[in-house]
Amino acid sequence: MTKIANLYGRVFIKCEIETKTGLHIGGAESSLSIGGVDNVIIRDPLSNRPYIPGSSLKGKMRSQMEKFHGLPQNRRIGQVTIHTCKNGGDYANCVVCHIYGLPGDSDFSTSTRLVVRDVQLTKKSVKKLGSAKTDLPFSEVKWEAAIDRVTSAATLRQMERVPAGAVFGPVELVYSIYEQADVARFENVVEGMQLLEDDYLGGSGSRGSGKVAFRSIKLTAKSRANYRQGQDYERTFDTLDDLAAALPAVMEWIEKDGVPVPVKEG
Ligand SMILES: [Zn+2]
Repeated sequence: MTKIANLYGRVFIKCEIETKTGLHIGGAESSLSIGGVDNVIIRDPLSNRPYIPGSSLKGKMRSQMEKFHGLPQNRRIGQVTIHTCKNGGDYANCVVCHIYGLPGDSDFSTSTRLVVRDVQLTKKSVKKLGSAKTDLPFSEVKWEAAIDRVTSAATLRQMERVPAGAVFGPVELVYSIYEQADVARFENVVEGMQLLEDDYLGGSGSRGSGKVAFRSIKLTAKSRANYRQGQDYERTFDTLDDLAAALPAVMEWIEKDGVPVPVKEG
């Protein structure tokens, strides 16, 4: 069964991500990895620079939201288990599945609201890291002691990381509004970003890696009425806390001027 979706408009969040501690987002292990380092990071194949896949950001926000709201982890995808709604009744009130999506085989689901794009290093960070004497291009190699739980023997392992202080951007999150309830759901997108900031991105988080902060957050919107012209109205926040504090006003703006949705839907 295919439902016809009515796109009323989109809200765009553009911002930067600053690494507060070293960041390890794992790349494909290959015998050809530079310098023969274990646990390499993901790199853009063309520029060979580290980047943050949108799927890493979105996946982490989703899993944090699932835990925060105590949703059942009921679907295995590869090596992870995630929450997906099994029926339309649960879906109607779910704070995760509208935003982050459901597999295509759910006949009650509607379009995924959130798109998160891949993020490259800013030009400034490329310059800064490029001229610094890092262990590998744009990265550091951290040695960690791994303790064998049975024998208590310590072995050293390597972990490649993007150093603290690197800035990626612009990050772009695109949030589509299909119905009135999506205006209120926008709050959950910001909540997911907050949960991510307080947790970690990538691997080895419990050992200190992956603390990141969103900054220079710019919100814009395009409504259906002016989609081709775009919208020059915008709001900017230095930090995610600033955005969170202004959320009631932001949502009022989305509802009234950003992406007005007719209350009566056909
Ligand atoms: Zn759900």
